[in-house]
Amino acid sequence: MVRSLVEVKNLVKHFPIRGGVFLKEIASVKAVDDVSLTIGEGETLGLVGESGCGKTTLGRLILRLEEPSSGEVFFQGKNILLLDKEQMRSLRKDMQIIFQDPFSSLNPRKTVSHIVGEPLLVHGLRSRREREERVLELLRVVGLRREHMRRYPHQFSGGQRQRIGVARALALHPKLMICDEAVSALDVSIQAQVLNLLKDLQEEFGLTYLFISHDLAVVEHVSDRLAVMYLGKIVELAESFQIYQSPLHPYTQALLSASPIPDPAFRRDRIILKGDVPSPIDPPSGCRFHTRCLYAEDICTQKEPQLREARENHLTACHFAGSVGVH
Ligand code: SF4
Repeated sequence: MVRSLVEVKNLVKHFPIRGGVFLKEIASVKAVDDVSLTIGEGETLGLVGESGCGKTTLGRLILRLEEPSSGEVFFQGKNILLLDKEQMRSLRKDMQIIFQDPFSSLNPRKTVSHIVGEPLLVHGLRSRREREERVLELLRVVGLRREHMRRYPHQFSGGQRQRIGVARALALHPKLMICDEAVSALDVSIQAQVLNLLKDLQEEFGLTYLFISHDLAVVEHVSDRLAVMYLGKIVELAESFQIYQSPLHPYTQALLSASPIPDPAFRRDRIILKGDVPSPIDPPSGCRFHTRCLYAEDICTQKEPQLREARENHLTACHFAGSVGVH
């Protein structure tokens, strides 16, 4: 059994909305609502869902870039919410994030050498020569060259900029990397190169990934397990191949039906989801998906389905999971 690197228990994040003269809380955005999951050491957990479903907030909560409203986050068995500022600073070396848009996350006025070397300096590597050697090594690892060190972010293509972001994230030998839509802004061919690079790095350095994306096709290539999120809740969680072969939740079925299949001999009927994602300020009662679900019945509007094991190691939150008509 693989040991957990990350364990999230009943995590909740509600962002208050304030109004009136006294700026009293008048409502809240339920971005993450009672989420529990684990990420095993060396595993890639894919986290998918439409934009606004709370997946980025969940990633930020795991890194403690946001404080949760309630719940717990364990990293290597330690509850990180109990750590003080200094302990958290030291732990941050082990947890890194790669963003969707490398251009906005890389300082345009700094050279690559400075950008990649900065975390080393912040964490105590004072010798300039040693830093440069380490930067050079990191650039080599991500497929860039010595001459790239003195250039600025605007002098690179999107794929190369993402490689710089990866080199910077790798600088402190992290254990966990959260890739938040890390390849979404790239052309398909460049996406494949960056995904392959991330896979190679995982093997070389034993990295653990939380791979966040709205695109199931991208996540399929990299994930061992997959969590599907809808309006702040995990609605399905299983090994990737189980979900791709036989999704149990109607939302996952609809997402998959819209995802392109590389094999032209294989066809899936497209399921068109009704309406837009409801507001996370006032999510629907019962099953949050009932306003868009093809199979909704009365119980779905009244009772919230719990995430439960509908098949071996295959969790889903649907009253009718596994029964005729739903899959
Ligand atoms: Fe659809 Fe009901 Fe299942 Fe929710 S619980 S996914 S509304 S069938």
